[in-house]
Amino acid sequence: MYTHLVAECLDCGHRSSYSPKESICPHCGGGWREARYDYKTIGKKILEELPNRPFDIWRFHDLLPIQDPHPVISMGEGGTPLLKATNLGTMLGIPHLYIKDEHQNPTGSFKDRQASITVTALKEAGITETVLASTGNVAISYAAYTSRAGIKLWAFLTSLVPAEKMREVAIYGTQVIKVTASYDQTKKLATEFAEQRQRGSYLDRGVRSIPALESMKTIAFEISEQLTSAMGADPDNPQVPWRVPDWYIQAVSGGLGPVGVLKGFDELREMGLTDRIPAIAGIQAEGCAPMVHAWKQNLDVAEPVHSPRTRIATLATGDPGHTYTILRKRMMQSGGGAFESVTDEEAFRAIHVLAKMEGLSMEPAAAVAFAGLIKMARSGQIQPTEVVVVNLTGHTMPVEKIILGEGWAQDVEIPELPSEMKPEEGLLSALSRITPKPHASVAIVDDHPQARRLIRRILQSQGEYTIFEASNGREALELARQEELDVMVLDLMMPEMDGFSVLDALKADEKTASIAVIVVTAKTLTPDEKARLRGRIHTLMKKGEFLDEDLVEEINSLLRNGSC
Ligand SMILES: *Cc1c(COP(=O)(O)O)cnc(C)c1O
Ligand SMILES: [Zn+2]
Repeated sequence: MYTHLVAECLDCGHRSSYSPKESICPHCGGGWREARYDYKTIGKKILEELPNRPFDIWRFHDLLPIQDPHPVISMGEGGTPLLKATNLGTMLGIPHLYIKDEHQNPTGSFKDRQASITVTALKEAGITETVLASTGNVAISYAAYTSRAGIKLWAFLTSLVPAEKMREVAIYGTQVIKVTASYDQTKKLATEFAEQRQRGSYLDRGVRSIPALESMKTIAFEISEQLTSAMGADPDNPQVPWRVPDWYIQAVSGGLGPVGVLKGFDELREMGLTDRIPAIAGIQAEGCAPMVHAWKQNLDVAEPVHSPRTRIATLATGDPGHTYTILRKRMMQSGGGAFESVTDEEAFRAIHVLAKMEGLSMEPAAAVAFAGLIKMARSGQIQPTEVVVVNLTGHTMPVEKIILGEGWAQDVEIPELPSEMKPEEGLLSALSRITPKPHASVAIVDDHPQARRLIRRILQSQGEYTIFEASNGREALELARQEELDVMVLDLMMPEMDGFSVLDALKADEKTASIAVIVVTAKTLTPDEKARLRGRIHTLMKKGEFLDEDLVEEINSLLRNGSC
């Protein structure tokens, strides 16, 4: 018996006791129920108890549809780090940018939250068979967790799912059914199949299944607690102990994540731990963006996309059904937000940017959220002062070929040597073949250490440069006189000696006049200031508006033109 929660029907409001064996409202037959708890009581005791609880998904067991607070089917799910994205944040002009790194879950995606809570609930209820339809990651997670729990799993996968993922599902001993059809049709087939199994198979219905929805809200709990450790309590809301971000950004397919995360933020507020709900940004792949279309046309029902045109199978839910309507309604009633779409190419590019700038590798579906972040930062939808959390939803190995293109490694062979030569000579001869690329000396002049760190990272991730740094104008001029610099990447606004004065001094000295200057600035220039730069610099780049490749392209074009 579950005494700490009730299931409330969204259609008729009827409240009944919860059991994983019943999926519909006993009063009206409605298929969408949500869990409700005694928030006031839990809110009072939870802050006292949290310091003694491990930082994993079970930390918030009082608010989960399970009985045993220390379940046996656990593999270290949840409790993922909230990472500050300093380089990307500097690049986009959003200093308070954080990444919830869900790829550190046991099978590499945030679906492990859903699988761990659901499989635990099934185990507690004595259910031994389950059925689901998946675009890949749900099936991988459930395959792992059901294997540990001794539950049989039937996984219906659309044939769009990459072969690597299908094999990953199969290796755990899952019954894999590959359906040559869209994901929406695959779901219908799985539903039919579950209904025909007489022995009481549990069908995971995503957002309509209480354990699935409850699992996702733990992301909100963790973000709030971690953000408070990272930034301190919210000075604008000193009456509550925890803080919430201004934005939660996630790549969206069926919408389980954002609906669950919103429920989590709502419960934090009910418990008196916070008093705000963040804006939600749902990012979809352009070729399958029913929620984006509906949002932009101000519709509360999403028109299904019958044949999704995206290579990102994880995000190929063409028909979000009622989930969109619920999500939109709740967003409008709370923190608002936006839906945006990005192209597959923008997502692939974001994968590469995040790997080079933040050391984080991810699958295309997760990268859709980052491509959306870049788009929203550029368009001004996200303000520089705002606190932003992006969910890095998942990881696939191996890296898909399309991300890297050609020329990502240099081939060397160690030659066969005549026996009189020493083996070291073979190594030396191989080393000599790794020809270094053209070399330029670049000075980075900026008073902000994060800005210097970003530009250094951009240069070192894409080529072979000798890099110098200066944190003020005086040091910059010293460097210019002492080293043979080819390029100076110059900030304009610096205390004491600003970039304009550095430029004047460089041009006035014959020894330094030929150094090519790229100005990178956050400042909007007046006509007068523009005139001061005209003809004397190579390029003007605005902070927060260029991507890594743009800067390197500028420097390489300088080298190609021989202008330095
Ligand atoms: C499932 C999934 C999504 C989409 O999540 P929803 O909340 O179900 O829309 C995004 N990224 C990855 C990696 C996923 O596995
Ligand atoms: Zn009902």
